[in-house]
Amino acid sequence: MKFALISDVHGNLEALEDVLRDIEKQGVEKIHFLGDVVGYGCNPNECVRLIDKHCDIKLLGNHDYAVMGLEQSENFNQIARVSMDWTVKKIKKKSIQILADFEMSSTFLDYFLVHASPDEPDSWTYILDVNGARDNFDEFSQSVCMVGHTHVPTCFILDKENTIFQQTGESIKRVDGHKYIINIGSVGQPRDNDPRACYLIVDTDTDTMYYRRVEYDIGKTQDKMKRAKLPEFLIERLAIGV
Ligand code: ZN
Repeated sequence: MKFALISDVHGNLEALEDVLRDIEKQGVEKIHFLGDVVGYGCNPNECVRLIDKHCDIKLLGNHDYAVMGLEQSENFNQIARVSMDWTVKKIKKKSIQILADFEMSSTFLDYFLVHASPDEPDSWTYILDVNGARDNFDEFSQSVCMVGHTHVPTCFILDKENTIFQQTGESIKRVDGHKYIINIGSVGQPRDNDPRACYLIVDTDTDTMYYRRVEYDIGKTQDKMKRAKLPEFLIERLAIGV
């Protein structure tokens, strides 16, 4: 079977709609969501509704947590805080009710799913490199842990000799006995110098996982953000993917 994993939509409706359209053509049976529906972008309510409608497993990210009042936005950097304050004003009661059913982590087949890291899901740790990955491989019993949060698609592999290495590329072929921590990238705010929306497809028949990159109307998203007077940096970064 094939399933899709999407994460870090961040209120970017244009990116989410085009990703869902792309997923429709891939013959997947399920879509799972790894967190951060809201924050940064203009359409938090629309994105919450679409994720709720299309996704099977739905996880909370730190921005979702904050908009629900479970995390203080003081923990955010200044720009994230400005956009969070904007989102808190825009978010509807119905959206909060939907988010209340999202989980902190979940499992699907041989895959552990969490927004940031498996060791303490609600501490929102960024797994940025091999050292960061090392502490986390003992924290899940499945072969593969899927994460989002950094907005950078990449893969950390623990081999049978206990060596950890990082692999970046368009696809990952699973090897028996290896463990994986895979960052699935971001739909609404990619930060790997590629502005196209990013998500991952898992094909369990061939034991392969591959990224899809989807172009969307970035100019339209930016115009909406300008009208909403969101921070300039958030608007500009979408065009360059940083
Ligand atoms: Zn995020």
